[in-house]
Amino acid sequence: SKVPTITLNNGVEMPQLGFGVWQVADDEATAAVSTALEAGYRSIDTAAIYENETGTGKALAASGIARDELFVTTKLWNSANETWTRDNVLREFDASLAKLGLDYVDLYLIHWPRAMREDYVTIWRAFAEIAASGRAKAVGVSNFHAPQLERVIAETSLVPAVNQVELHPDFAQTELRAVHARHGIVTEAWSPLGQGRELLGDPVLARIGAKHGKSAAQVVLRWHLQVGNVAIPKSVTPSRIRENFDVFGFELDADDLAAIAGLDAGNRLGPNPDEFD
Ligand code: NAD
Repeated sequence: SKVPTITLNNGVEMPQLGFGVWQVADDEATAAVSTALEAGYRSIDTAAIYENETGTGKALAASGIARDELFVTTKLWNSANETWTRDNVLREFDASLAKLGLDYVDLYLIHWPRAMREDYVTIWRAFAEIAASGRAKAVGVSNFHAPQLERVIAETSLVPAVNQVELHPDFAQTELRAVHARHGIVTEAWSPLGQGRELLGDPVLARIGAKHGKSAAQVVLRWHLQVGNVAIPKSVTPSRIRENFDVFGFELDADDLAAIAGLDAGNRLGPNPDEFD
C-alpha cells in the first residue's frame, strides 16, 4: 500500500490516512466505503452513534480484501448508558462487532470523556479487558484533554494508543499534541479538512496547491501526514474520495509548512469536550 503507517504503543501498525463515515446514512455507507476501498483506503473510521456499522460491514465483506489488510475503528457511544459498568461496556462492544460482522476491530475508542461524570475510568478498565482478549487490537480514546488522559494512565497504567480529536490547520491542537508526544499517544485528526468549510477556501492553501498542482484539500491532508497525524477525511463523492487519497506523490517544503502553521486560529467547529455530555 502507498499509505504510510504509524506504529502504536503496543506495536500495531495503523495507516496514517483513513476514511471517515460520520453523517453517512447506513444505506449510503456501503457504496461510500466500497468506493474508498477501491480507491485504496484500508482504514475505515465509524462509530456506534453513526448508525452505519452495518452498512460499513457489508462493504468490508463484499470487498474480498483480507481481514488483516483492513484497519477498522469503531467507538463506544458514551450516552448509550446513563451509568457505566464493565458489563454494559462489553455489551456495547459486542453489538458493534455484530453490526460490523467482524470478530475483532483494529481500534476501539471511547467516543467522548464526558469529563464531568468521571466514569470514563470505569469504561477504560473494560477497554483494557477487551484489548487483552484480542477482540480489539488496540484501544484508545477520543476528545480527551490532558487531565482525562493523565487520569486513565495513572489509574490503570494502560496508555491509550490513540486520541482522536478535532484537528485541522486552523485548529492545530499544538499543546495537546505535545501531551500526546510525551505519553507516546498517536494523534488522530477528526474533521481533518475542517468539514470542508471556510478553511478550504483559504488563499494560503490555494497558493500552495497551485505550486504543487494540488487542491486545497490535498494540501491539508499532506500537512497532516507530514506533521505526523493520522487523518480520516470523509466524503460520499467518488471523485473527492479518490482526490483525498491522492496525496502521496508530492511533498510540502519548509516554507509551505510554516505558512500552514500560520493558519492556526483556534477555530473549533465541534463541541468543547470539557462541556460535552
Ligand atoms: P472532514 O474534515 O473530513 O470534512 C468532510 C467534508 O468536507 C465533506 O462532507 C465535504 O463537504 C468536504 N470535502 C471532503 N473532501 C473534499 C474535497 N476533496 N474538496 C472539497 N471539499 C471536500 O469532516 P468530518 O466528516 O467531520 O470528519 C472526518 C471524520 O472524522 C468523520 O467522518 C468521522 O469518522 C470522524 N469524526 C470523529 C469525531 C469524534 O468525535 N471522534 C467527530 C467528528 C468526526
